[in-house]
Order: sequence, then C-alpha cells, then structure tokens
Amino acid sequence: MSEELDPFSIAQEQLDTAAQVMGLDEQAHAILREPMQTVQANIPVRMRDGKVRAFTGFRVLYNSARGPGKGGIRFHPQESLSTVKALAAWMTWKTALANIPLGGAKGGVICDTKSMDGSELESLSRSYIRSMGRFVGVDLDVPAPDVYTTPQIMAWMMDEHSKLVGSNDDFGMITGKPLEVWGSEGRFDATAQGGMDVLREAANYYKMSIKGSRIAIQGFGNAGSYAFELAQKLGAKVVAISDSRGGVYDPNGLDFARLKETKEKTGSVANYSGGEKITNEKLLELDADVLIPAALENQITGSNADRIKARLVLELANGPVTPEADSILLERGIPDLPDFLVNSGGVVVSYFEWVQNKAGYYWTQDEVYSRLSSIMSKSFADVVSTQLKYANSGKKISPRTAAYVIAVGRVAAAMKARGWY
Ligand code: NAD
Repeated sequence: MSEELDPFSIAQEQLDTAAQVMGLDEQAHAILREPMQTVQANIPVRMRDGKVRAFTGFRVLYNSARGPGKGGIRFHPQESLSTVKALAAWMTWKTALANIPLGGAKGGVICDTKSMDGSELESLSRSYIRSMGRFVGVDLDVPAPDVYTTPQIMAWMMDEHSKLVGSNDDFGMITGKPLEVWGSEGRFDATAQGGMDVLREAANYYKMSIKGSRIAIQGFGNAGSYAFELAQKLGAKVVAISDSRGGVYDPNGLDFARLKETKEKTGSVANYSGGEKITNEKLLELDADVLIPAALENQITGSNADRIKARLVLELANGPVTPEADSILLERGIPDLPDFLVNSGGVVVSYFEWVQNKAGYYWTQDEVYSRLSSIMSKSFADVVSTQLKYANSGKKISPRTAAYVIAVGRVAAAMKARGWY
C-alpha cells in the first residue's frame, strides 16, 4: 500500500497515534480530529488590466481552548484546504508545546504572487482582511506571515483591519509586521535561532559536540540560510546545502559568504564553486552528524528513511518526515526532533510581538533572544523527559509522539477545564 501523503490525513494520523499512546478521552479526541471553524471566502480583486478576479481564500481556526488562534497566511498557487487544516492543527500543537497562551490557526489564498504586481498584492491583502475581518483580531485569531507573505503584507492587513474595527491601536491583530508599525526585534531569524537553541540542548543531551560537527541543510531560504549562519557561529561545519535547483557538498565545510553571493548572482547555491554538486535526494542521505530539512514537506519517507545516515535529524521545515519514516528512524535509533518543537521559534517571537503590542512596551533584541532561548530549552526538556517516562514503563515512543502527548494533553486539559467535554 502506498504511503498516505495528504497533509491533513497525516496530521490526523499523528494525533491518533498520540491519542492511543496517552489513552486520550475519546470525546476530546473527536473534537481535536477536526478544526473548530473553517472559513472559505471568494475574494474579489481588481487587477491591473481593470478586470475583477476572484481568489479563493481560507482561514482555519483549529482550536482556541488555550487562547486566540495563531498561525500564518500563505499565498501559494497550490494552496489547498487540506494543507491549511493540517498547518492549523500543527500550530495548535506548536503553541501548546511551547506553553504559550495561544491556540492554533492558519490561512491561505490560492494565488501566484510571482505574476502579481505590488498594487495587486496590496489589493488582495486588504480584500482578504475585509472577507475575514470578523474572524481575526487580537483576542480572536492572530495571523502572521508564511510562504510568500511578507512584513509589508502584514502591515497592509493590519491597516485594513484597524479601519474595519475603528481602532488606532490594532497592532496586535497580526504579527510579523515591520518594526515601524511595532513588529518585534529578532523576528526575522527567530525560527533559526529557536532551532539552534534546540540543537544546543540536543547536542548536550545526546552527548554530541557541536564544535566541528558536520551539518547538512536542505533549503537555503529564510529558515535554512539563517540556520547555516548560526550553526557556523556555534562552531559547526555546514558540509552540504541545497535549494530547489540542487545542492553542493564539501566535507571540509562550505563558506557562507561565498554561498550567499553565489545564490544572489546565479540564483542557486548549486553553482557554488569548490564543492561537489549533489541532488536533494543525496543530500538527505549524506553521512553527516546533523541533518536539517529546511525546505519542503514529505522529504524523508518510507522509501528513503532506511538510508538516512545522520546521527540526529532536526526538522526546521514543516512536515518533512512522514509517519512511516518517523517509525523507521525510531527503530534505527536516530533521534528525529519534530517540526513543531524545532521550528517554534517563529511563533514564540510572534507571541512576544503580540505581548509587546498589547502592553505597548517594547523589548531589545537581546531580551527577545534570551526569553526565546528559555522557552525552547524548556520545550526540549519536556519532550525528552516525556519520552523517558514512557520508556521507563516499557513504551518506546518517538520524540514527535512525546511532543504530541504533551501538546494534546495540554489542549485537552484546557478543553476539560472549560467544560467542552
Ligand atoms: P523560503 O521560501 O524562504 O525557502 C524555501 C527554500 O526551500 C528555498 O531555498 C527553496 O529553494 C528551497 N526549495 C524549494 N523547493 C525545493 C526542493 N524541491 N528541494 C530542495 N529545496 C527546495 O521558506 P522558509 O521560510 O525558509 O521555510 C522553509 C520551511 O520552514 C517550510 O517548511 C516552512 O513552513 C518552515 N518554517 C519556516 C518558518 C520561518 O519563519 N521562515 C517558520 C516555521 C516553519
């Protein structure tokens, strides 16, 4: 039988596994298997040729038992309700694992931003908010940037929403804004910063030294490129990197500045001179200490998990490892630290932005990083101690299942306390 790769089916399968392991109440399980609210809108936008085009947009509020929804808005031609629902579910587990007072949500619009100019993008962003205005807000559901949405788009959305609700202090309705309209310091590389906090904790726990360790990173976008730079600062050697056009490998380590320049000049890191060209598939199977998937979902699957040679997998991308691969890595004794632990730095700093907006008082970058680091370290410790607790009672569970057990347990407890079941 071929492996299930539909994103929402995967999210449900992961929840089912955790529910079974932890003996989750079946009423809570039924509530948590589906989103609380799904909004689909037909969004009209006047394009530069003067004609109106209708775009399909979504906003899914998965669960709000622990606080307002939180999750990005993606503008993507292949956006689908299944993807948005899966990402909204993962946001629920992510905010719960980080133990921040927010729920999970996600949004998206089916569109190709590459064929749109600035004014069309602005019109689409404002129109999206006019359609979704009643469902988002500082105490309802707080969006953020995601694939192909930017701080500028967040600023337009905030501006449109503030007009809708008639407020001059509506900054906290969305995060990832530019600093000029009260975004947070440290947001730009928060995901990679948080990922490196987890790497530091993991290296300590699994008794690996980061200094001199060999790291392979798939993806050189926001998450992957900052992870590269920060890993090097920690003394690691990044030996392989890739983007959508291919990758490059050098066992002696790649040079970040030269790689960045190559990407800017030629459009791809694969044109870096000095290393050996490799495919994305081969990159995943390299003999490295740490493998960091930082690009796409479904990269490590039932068909290649037995060829992964890294000693540790750090999921900076969302959904890069399928459930089947998760079990294979567990059997093979390779710790695979899950996306909603590793890449939660972005949402944690989004949460900080929301807190600062609500308080009207702003923190320095150092304050942001240090608070982020405490949360990431605590989340990692919670995951490994849960894994250990189950191991002690004879149940071998993966770090992902341990993270689910914690997150689902927290959301279920909040629902119980509120009397939802
Ligand atoms: P991005 O668009 O900035 O970069 C994506 C990178 O992936 C690019 O280098 C692109 O060339 C590469 N890529 C695309 N197709 C590929 C392929 N077939 N093989 C290899 N590489 C390919 O995106 P990003 O913000 O860096 O996000 C990457 C992943 O991290 C996504 O899964 C995203 O959901 C996740 N993530 C990002 C953040 C964040 O703050 N940026 C937060 C949480 C999770």
